[in-house]
Amino acid sequence: GQITRQDLQYLEILGHGNGGTVYRTFHQPSKVIMAVKVIALDATQEEQRQIMAELDILHKCDSSYIIGFYGAFFAENRISICAEYMDGGSLDGYGAIPEPVLGRIIVGVVKGLNYLWSLKIMHRDIKPSNVLVNTQGCVKLCDFGVSVQLLTSLTKTFIGTNAYMAPERILGGEYGIHSEIWSLGLSTLEMALGRFPYLPEGSKPSSLVPFELLQCIVNEKPPTLSLEHFSPSLIEFTQQCMQKLPKARPGITALLQHPFLLHYDDGGEEVIAVWVRRLLEQMRIMQRFPSDTSLASTSSSV
Ligand code: ADP
Ligand code: MG
Repeated sequence: GQITRQDLQYLEILGHGNGGTVYRTFHQPSKVIMAVKVIALDATQEEQRQIMAELDILHKCDSSYIIGFYGAFFAENRISICAEYMDGGSLDGYGAIPEPVLGRIIVGVVKGLNYLWSLKIMHRDIKPSNVLVNTQGCVKLCDFGVSVQLLTSLTKTFIGTNAYMAPERILGGEYGIHSEIWSLGLSTLEMALGRFPYLPEGSKPSSLVPFELLQCIVNEKPPTLSLEHFSPSLIEFTQQCMQKLPKARPGITALLQHPFLLHYDDGGEEVIAVWVRRLLEQMRIMQRFPSDTSLASTSSSV
């Protein structure tokens, strides 16, 4: 059935993004924990109807590499989009990801993109914060642009540039799979390094991208990884994806055949699961905020 606001119990804020806030919520009727993204939106009745109709495609997206969709609703001037909750969160907060883990993550990302592209859906917002993981070792994509009307309504309020855009897209050129491959390459580079390669250590790209940064992406040689710390196949993978000339970047077939992906396409979800669980545990200890009872009982008995 339809999800309504009354059925949802808001538990905590998972994060803020460009115009929206994501909450961990409990859906009472189904007893399911959901991630609900609430975005303020100025849309007419007709636009709202259009958005709901377009979001309906999400019910047909059925891939283990794509975030599950439960439904959406409008309340006041806000749209709430209810999706599968991923207990590992997004990959922007994990620092440098070790190559054996990263490799398996990127295999999932590419399979997710391949699935979307096969449905003629462009992601339009590939970046580490839109790649989610869980303690089962699943990797899933979220926040792809299924609703043209939603994107239109959003760009009325927000600037439509981000730091992961390909040079040709910054310049207002044609947008296609090539441009998505650039964003994939840049995201991979960032997750390997643990920082956004165009910015000094410690700074994160914000939603308001400075002109100088865009200029740098358009004019400078793309950043690469050093052979000292990374394998040749990972380095080559990011270099191929981040070629300035869109046509020089690999297509999906070449991408799926890339040695970096072939090497890690071994169903190694357990590698991701172990890594996610370990980091969550570390974060819990660091925050002195034991959220599971086993930890809580040990610390109280000490
Ligand atoms: P952005 O992607 O730019 O960070 P969003 O508003 O899309 O902004 O998301 C904010 C944060 O909420 C994300 O960075 C992520 O950590 C968290 N988040 C989003 N969706 C989910 C989800 N389905 N499960 C768990 N965490 C999520
Ligand atoms: Mg997001």
